[in-house]
Amino acid sequence: MRQKIVAGNWKMNKNMEDGQALTSEIVNMVGDELRDDVKIVLCPPFVYLTALKGIVKENKHISLGAQNCNEHASGAYTGEIAAPMLTAIGVQYVILGHSERRELFGESNELLAKKINIALEHSLTPIFCCGEPLQIREQNTQEDYVGKQIQAGLFHLSPEAFSKIVVAYEPIWAIGTGKTASTDQAQEMHATIRKQITEKYGEDIANNTAILYGGSVKPDNAEELFSCMDVDGGLVGGASLKSRDFVDIAKAFQSSR
Ligand code: PEP
Repeated sequence: MRQKIVAGNWKMNKNMEDGQALTSEIVNMVGDELRDDVKIVLCPPFVYLTALKGIVKENKHISLGAQNCNEHASGAYTGEIAAPMLTAIGVQYVILGHSERRELFGESNELLAKKINIALEHSLTPIFCCGEPLQIREQNTQEDYVGKQIQAGLFHLSPEAFSKIVVAYEPIWAIGTGKTASTDQAQEMHATIRKQITEKYGEDIANNTAILYGGSVKPDNAEELFSCMDVDGGLVGGASLKSRDFVDIAKAFQSSR
């Protein structure tokens, strides 16, 4: 069985007090409401991670993730955060290759391949984001585009290392826009990604790889999206900032697969 994951990407939002309150609310809600096999990953700004670890503690449903890490383990890289620093404070996941990092901070597939390596070396589970801009979707070349991102960012890994990866397909035209991919569009891309993984690593690994969908996931579309055969959860931006909405998204698994 593939892991079902709902990850919340807070981006550069919330102050410490509001972030702690949001986390406490989520902790209280999931205890009673969440299906046992669903995992929640909270990805707040770096500076809140330690405080939130104190709230999440060893909750079996909830893990913490970072939104980025540097490609080096240590050194003269002013302002950066290294993977082993995250591991040391109890962080288990790291989002890598978010479209905002790619577009606003110029992160290339080659750089992301290095970040993937360092994250895995330090026992972090990468949530590797891929996805096409609107122009590529309009040209109907999204399969090629996303295929190249996955190949360049991940396919240097050994089968053992790849089996630790979580993939997040996030069409850029659906991020923060309120425009969600249709279930057909999501399922089609997820199946294509899984096929590509099968061709490289074989069926067992492909069938065990969690592929999340991201792009305006909300409580009212989560159930439909999560009912797609190859959609194993969501990477959620805006709706992860409201406890009720976020937990309702995670609960969408109750009634689907
Ligand atoms: C995201 O930033 O990864 C994202 C999917 O944002 P939103 O849910 O707000 O579209």
